Amino acid sequence: DEVVCEKGDARIRVFVRKRPLNYREQGISTLFDTLTPTKTTLHLHEPKTRMDLTKTIETHSFAFDGVFDEFVGNRGVYERTVLGMVKSMFDGGRGTVFAYGQTGSGKTHTVFGNGEDTIGLYEYACRDIFQHYTTHPDSHSLSLHICFFEIYSGQAYDLLSSRTRVHLLEDAHGMVRIQGLKEIPVTTLKHLLDLVKMGTNTRTTGSTEANPDSSRSHAVFQIRLRKNHKVIGKFSVVDLAGSERGVERGNVGKRERFEGAEINKSLLALKECIRALYRSRSSQSMKQHIPFRASKLTQILRDSFVGARSQTVMIATVSPGSNSVDHSLNTLRYADRVKEL
Ligand code: ADP
Ligand code: MG
Repeated sequence: DEVVCEKGDARIRVFVRKRPLNYREQGISTLFDTLTPTKTTLHLHEPKTRMDLTKTIETHSFAFDGVFDEFVGNRGVYERTVLGMVKSMFDGGRGTVFAYGQTGSGKTHTVFGNGEDTIGLYEYACRDIFQHYTTHPDSHSLSLHICFFEIYSGQAYDLLSSRTRVHLLEDAHGMVRIQGLKEIPVTTLKHLLDLVKMGTNTRTTGSTEANPDSSRSHAVFQIRLRKNHKVIGKFSVVDLAGSERGVERGNVGKRERFEGAEINKSLLALKECIRALYRSRSSQSMKQHIPFRASKLTQILRDSFVGARSQTVMIATVSPGSNSVDHSLNTLRYADRVKEL
C-alpha cells in the first residue's frame, strides 16, 4: 500500500454537528454549551458520580475545523463544508464527505435529508454541480453519472439496481473495482433526485436478514464528471454505519457480532487512512504506507483519497442528551484522532 501522495491543495477537514433534542428527549439535560456559529471548540460536560456518591461534572474540550449547533441548518453546513469541493470537481477535484456518528445522531439527516422538508448535503451539492455543468463552456463534451451503493458486512449492494449484490474485484495494485455496479448517466437534476430517492427507499425498506437496517451499512453516493468519457471529477457522500455498532458485544446474536466486527474494522481503517494521509501531506517524505487494504470501504474509496486535488470532509454527528454521553464522547474522540498528527 505504498502510495505517492502528491502535494497540492489536498486537505482534510473535520467538523462536529450537534442535533437538537427531540420530543422523546424533553427534560433530558444536555451535554453541551450553546455554540456560536464561529466557534471551533466544543466542550462536553460529562456528569459523573464520585466514590462517595456526590455528583460532579468532568468537562472534555475538543477543537475542530468547525462546530455546528442545532441552529445551523443543512444549507449552512453545506456552505461551510462541501461547497468548495463542488467547484473544484470541474477542474479535476475529488471530494468526499463522511458522516460519522451514533445511530440517531443525524448522519442521514445531514447527508440525505429527512425525506420531508429538509434536503441533504448531497442535494445541495448536486444542484450546484448541475448549475456548473449546464453553464460550462465545454458542456457538450461533459457528462454526469451517478452510482449509489451500500457496503454491508464486507459486500457491496447496488442501490440503483434493487439492491443487487455486486462483486468487488481487486487488481494486482490493490485497486478495487465494483463489477456490475450501475453508473447511470443523468442529464437533469430531477432525474438524479428521483434515482437517489428510489435508492434511499431501497435502502430503508424492511429490515430482514437479506436487507439489514441502515445503521449496519455504509451508503455511498457518487457523482462522476466525465469529459469525453474519461472521469475528470468526482464527488462522494458516505453515510457511515452507526458507530456504536462497531463496539457491540454482550447481549447480541452471533450475526450482529460478526457484522459489528466488520463495521469496527472499516471505521478503524477509515480513521487510519485519513491519519496517514494527513501525516504524508505534512511530512517531507512523499512515500507513505496507507492501510487502504484493511477494509472494503477504504479500498473502494482509495482513488478519492489520493491525489493532489482530493479533499475530505468528516462530519461527526452527536446527540445532545446526557443519556448519550458515552457514544458522544466516543464520536468526539474518534473525530479528534482523525485530524491529530
Ligand atoms: P442517523 O442517520 O445518524 O441514524 P438520523 O439522521 O436518522 O440519524 O436522525 C435521527 C432523527 O433526528 C431523525 O428524525 C432526524 O430527522 C432528526 N435530526 C437529526 N439531525 C437533526 C438536525 N440537525 N435538526 C433537526 N432534526 C435532526
Ligand atoms: Mg441513518
